[in-house]
Amino acid sequence: MTDEKREHKAPEHDENSGEETRAKGISRRDLLIGAGMGISGLAVAGGAHFMNNLPDFAIEGVIDRALSGDPNAKFYEDDALHVITTGTGAPLPDPARVGPQTVVVAGDQVLVFDTGPGSTRKLALTGLGIGSVNALFLTHYHSDHISDLGEFMLQHWTGTGATEPLKIYGPPGVEQVVAGFLAAYQLDRVYRIDHHGADVMPPSGFGGVAYEFDLGSDLMSSDVVYEAGDVQVIAFNVDHPPVVPAVGFRVSYKDRSVMITGDTIYSDSLIHHAMGADLMVSDALNHKMSQMVSEAGADMENNLTAVAEDIQESHIRPEEAAFVAKEAGVNKLLITHVLPPVPDILVNPFLRDARAVFDGEVRMANDGTMAKLPVNSDKITISELLV
Ligand SMILES: [Zn+2]
Ligand SMILES: [Zn+2]
Repeated sequence: MTDEKREHKAPEHDENSGEETRAKGISRRDLLIGAGMGISGLAVAGGAHFMNNLPDFAIEGVIDRALSGDPNAKFYEDDALHVITTGTGAPLPDPARVGPQTVVVAGDQVLVFDTGPGSTRKLALTGLGIGSVNALFLTHYHSDHISDLGEFMLQHWTGTGATEPLKIYGPPGVEQVVAGFLAAYQLDRVYRIDHHGADVMPPSGFGGVAYEFDLGSDLMSSDVVYEAGDVQVIAFNVDHPPVVPAVGFRVSYKDRSVMITGDTIYSDSLIHHAMGADLMVSDALNHKMSQMVSEAGADMENNLTAVAEDIQESHIRPEEAAFVAKEAGVNKLLITHVLPPVPDILVNPFLRDARAVFDGEVRMANDGTMAKLPVNSDKITISELLV
């Protein structure tokens, strides 16, 4: 280390600081301010040296702050339909997006749609307790929509010591999928009951129970699959070749509603089941960009080119989703299941053709985007819970 650098790191005197912290060049006041600002604030206030030498009271302050209640609880207090996209990615890795998941909070109901990879943790970060989830709905059984199911059931059980298993609704195949995850988690179930005891981990609350609904093969068919208080969930068939069955959902709460496409190509079923909804949350694949990915990957020794080509026949284009929203009289369109993964700088080009079709707002959802739809109103306010 040079003398100049040594000079720069000499402790500063602070009349208000305690001897021990002053010797390290940071005051107690700075630490308290730092604790109030969170860990990133401490890094700014004290630098790396102090981060490595924090006294216990400062560590305690940071931990207390992190655990002091639910920072987002206030978002869910109003009488409104809340729609949160907790996972907005797709099968291809994306540093900003985990696998697909959308959450609806309305009245006393917390309903979750799909459990893409990483989505359980993203959901927990929004401040919603997974133990409070009333039901899970699966759109189809592609791995990017179910791979977190084991983790989701586990958190539902262990987070609050649930005494009843999670209710899981899905088209035919749901029993097989749930049974597979239950089998994989049997050993862990034993460990946790042995470790924490049956009072903390009631054996009856482990896992999930499958509730199958069958909409048949007619693409236009739909049915009410869940009702609780003022909340109603309708499942409808979508076209997601080669996957059969595949469904989307429409959720209504009092006078507000959201339509969630699941994975689909364009079909009249989408317009029919989005008709008059306030909000549409749609799958989307930008064909032009997907083609560019396919061409750019041509020299790589992996399946990227073939996969990028194949998936173009399985997902709706942003401009087609916009057409559905326009024809159905939807107010706002949120794009999720973003394919191919794009950095922020390409979000507007991704949505350009969609915006040319639809007069309402077309927005790329992020992990943690929340749309709030207050009852007895036409309003939709969008906020970001995780940025
Ligand atoms: Zn998918
Ligand atoms: Zn799919």
